[in-house]
Amino acid sequence: MRIPEKIKIGGHTYICKFDDKLSRDTSANGMSCGNSLEIIIDSSLPEENQESVLLHEILEQINFRYELNLEHEKITILESALYQVLKDNKLNFSDRS
Ligand SMILES: [Zn+2]
Repeated sequence: MRIPEKIKIGGHTYICKFDDKLSRDTSANGMSCGNSLEIIIDSSLPEENQESVLLHEILEQINFRYELNLEHEKITILESALYQVLKDNKLNFSDRS
């Protein structure tokens, strides 16, 4: 999947950016900020890992926007579980013509 340039979460438009040294410099594969409205993904990761990192950061921002107070472990579990279902079933809700 191509990582989109922009992504809307809770009515806010986030810009997706890439940093090929993010993991090396911060030990995080991705970062997101609800104030600067940015999602940053390590572009040195394999494509599938970039996709699940995007999903993780989306979940982080849903957690922030809707004040779900999910523990980080739960976000990581949801990332893995949702990624598997979406990927293995090729789910794309917007591709109907
Ligand atoms: Zn996280």
